[in-house]
Amino acid sequence: MKADLLIRGISQLVTAEGPGPKRGSEMRRLRLVERAALAVAEGVFVWAGAEADWEGGAAPDIDVGQRAVVPALVDPHTHAMWAGDRLADFDARISGMPYEAILAGGGSIWSTIRATAAASQEELVALAKPRVNALLRSGATVIEVKSGYGFTSDAELAMLLAIRVLAGQTPARIIPTLLIHVPPREAAARAAYVSDVCRTLVPEAARQKLAAAVDVFVEKEAWSAADAECIFLAARRHGLPIKLHTEQFNRVGGLELGLRMGAFSVDHLEACSAEQIAGIAAAPTLATILPGVSLHLGLPPAPGRALIDAGAAVAVGTDLNPGSSPLFSASMALALAVRLNGLTAQEALVAGSVNAACALGLRDAGRIEPGLPADFLVLQGRDWRELLYTLGSNPVRDVWIRGERVVA
Ligand SMILES: [Zn+2]
Repeated sequence: MKADLLIRGISQLVTAEGPGPKRGSEMRRLRLVERAALAVAEGVFVWAGAEADWEGGAAPDIDVGQRAVVPALVDPHTHAMWAGDRLADFDARISGMPYEAILAGGGSIWSTIRATAAASQEELVALAKPRVNALLRSGATVIEVKSGYGFTSDAELAMLLAIRVLAGQTPARIIPTLLIHVPPREAAARAAYVSDVCRTLVPEAARQKLAAAVDVFVEKEAWSAADAECIFLAARRHGLPIKLHTEQFNRVGGLELGLRMGAFSVDHLEACSAEQIAGIAAAPTLATILPGVSLHLGLPPAPGRALIDAGAAVAVGTDLNPGSSPLFSASMALALAVRLNGLTAQEALVAGSVNAACALGLRDAGRIEPGLPADFLVLQGRDWRELLYTLGSNPVRDVWIRGERVVA
């Protein structure tokens, strides 16, 4: 076996195995090899096992000094591109002002929409780049970035174009999603926007390959399940997979629609009933939970433990966004999923690697396995569980993408 590079001195090599999402108790099954090594050729893993078993002959090697190695993480849910800030909202909220008063004062998501619309493409990219770099340093080499602060079809396309430019300026793999986020307040404008999304925005995003999926925020104060169904039918006509922000505060039919239409993932799920949890477990759709929101807004967390116990495939994302989850670390999202959503360390690693990749429809990320891109993390410590244990300092020492160290 020929290798360009041998990574050795690995105290523990830990990874999920095999393609496809891990469900229920499968999420606790990991391959763990002590005193391990891995071999890379042309940016792809060619071997991983006990260092003593390597028989591939001489290759340039790097000794990582008895540190743990895990697959690079995947962040399947971010709103990393925005302009303006929500610090005044945050200050008002922690000082006790009711949410409705903040909204009436011109704050909330409307201020983000105004600031994003006013920003140039160059400004949007410059603002998003350090956020994506922070996620990368925290271990995520595949990062989903949504549009959604556009409010008109032109503004959404401009956001998607800015996300494409951003993708060319980072070593991370950026997966763009068209998000239909908040509706106009008047009913007529709302219907006109849905029609424009279906007739213009979705076809144009598909034609220019600007989006890998279409996402809709289904909620009492956002889009109805009927609105979302129109948009998803347009997505289907143009070959784009779908996903949803759903069951965050209320149950208005989004979850059932997503499962019926074969969504890649249903995201949030804080308001899920036991019956709905059973429905997710019986479907191929992944459940993406977002503990940063629970922490930042002080709201009840999504039922991660119950979802896994019911047999669902759970993924975890940062939901990085200015209003409800200023969480700039993919590994911290996993550490929070352990504390807030009741995941074990094993389940959290699977949720942030192979399952998060599957939530984006990717089968070539989130595992250390021959034939897959050599994306992996060298942790600071000897024991891989430090990834989930550590709060407030980065447990990731080095990030590797396709056999190249990108963060030293
Ligand atoms: Zn979100």
